[in-house]
Amino acid sequence: MFVPDPPITAKEQAPRVYFFDTTLRDGEQSPGCTMHSAEKLRLAHQIADLGVDILEAGFAIASEGDSESIRTIAREVRGPIIASLARCKREDIDAAARSIEPAPRARIHTFLSTSDLHLAAKLKITREQALDQIAEMVALARSYAEDVEFSPEDATRTDRDFLIKVCEVAIQAGATTLNLPDTVGYCIPHDYAQMFLDVRARVPGIENIVLSAHCHDDLGLAVANTIASVEAGVRQVECAINGIGERAGNASLEELAAIFTTRRDKLPYRHNIVMSKLYPTSQMLAECITFGAAPNKAIVGANAFAHAAGIHQHGVMVNPLTYEIMTPESVGVPHNSLVLGKHSGRRALEQRYVELGQNLSRAELDAVYHRFTELADRKKTIYDQDLLSLLKPEPNVSAIA
Ligand code: MN
Repeated sequence: MFVPDPPITAKEQAPRVYFFDTTLRDGEQSPGCTMHSAEKLRLAHQIADLGVDILEAGFAIASEGDSESIRTIAREVRGPIIASLARCKREDIDAAARSIEPAPRARIHTFLSTSDLHLAAKLKITREQALDQIAEMVALARSYAEDVEFSPEDATRTDRDFLIKVCEVAIQAGATTLNLPDTVGYCIPHDYAQMFLDVRARVPGIENIVLSAHCHDDLGLAVANTIASVEAGVRQVECAINGIGERAGNASLEELAAIFTTRRDKLPYRHNIVMSKLYPTSQMLAECITFGAAPNKAIVGANAFAHAAGIHQHGVMVNPLTYEIMTPESVGVPHNSLVLGKHSGRRALEQRYVELGQNLSRAELDAVYHRFTELADRKKTIYDQDLLSLLKPEPNVSAIA
């Protein structure tokens, strides 16, 4: 375990951790997660209500559609800072600046790979050229926005001395947040934390900027690495609903929020996430993309609060604390008072849809009830995700069953 530095005493107010949501950028660019503009806007409103501090709405240069969708979100969604991603290229930064322009609080997030492997194989530039490009493009971003985040892509495989130099150059050029991503999901918690401790100890001016973590789950450590980095001084955590993102995904927003809430005794950080909106947000995302959370996913999976073993069921009935470290209601999971199966009637089905935030007309209920009975013949347990997928014109239950 890492000792927070400076140590937090009981008298001091707990430091704040800022949630940076990248569901609509890193998440959206992963397989099966493409969303239409209207879906992105609906989710952006929900993510804002969830209490995230920074909402990365897309990658403006990627397409005309992406750029328009960021602009709509910047115009209509209030609460979070709205960010657009940009490579360290003039046309990217110009496009990002145009897309976030309507937002009262906006950020340009620019990035450049800094590992020797990426510099040689991908960018075909030298370290010196990379430093020049970072200085020039961070300064350009600052000419458009007061709030500029810089990410040295593949930071965790970047030569440490060179990474220190990169951070120094980015700060001098005007970066206000430095995000050090574990782009390939290779780190273990101790490595990842040590990188931030080194940067804090060696980079001049680092005390005036916010350090940020961005972890991928290739080894299943995205959340653990993020928590370790917070204990090493990180104050912004990049994450996504249901942990979606490139390959195995990003750190899961709901898991991070639940950890900071449930283990406040060991991790005394404040955050703004509205816990009761976690589950509804997870469900809404599942409606927009091609898959929901795995049934055994922490916090939002269908089985996260299901107690199957008799001895567990008995314990929970006597006192939920025997096997539950948080209540389902605290993260917005509707109270599971009835088990839906093929013997359930229309009223029970209608009631469950209301709990899931879906008010169906009589005709819709009739149509969905028919599909529900067909499904119940084939499947023993009907999960909430199944019910939501039944609402789609072409139900695709096999993907989530
Ligand atoms: Mn990423």
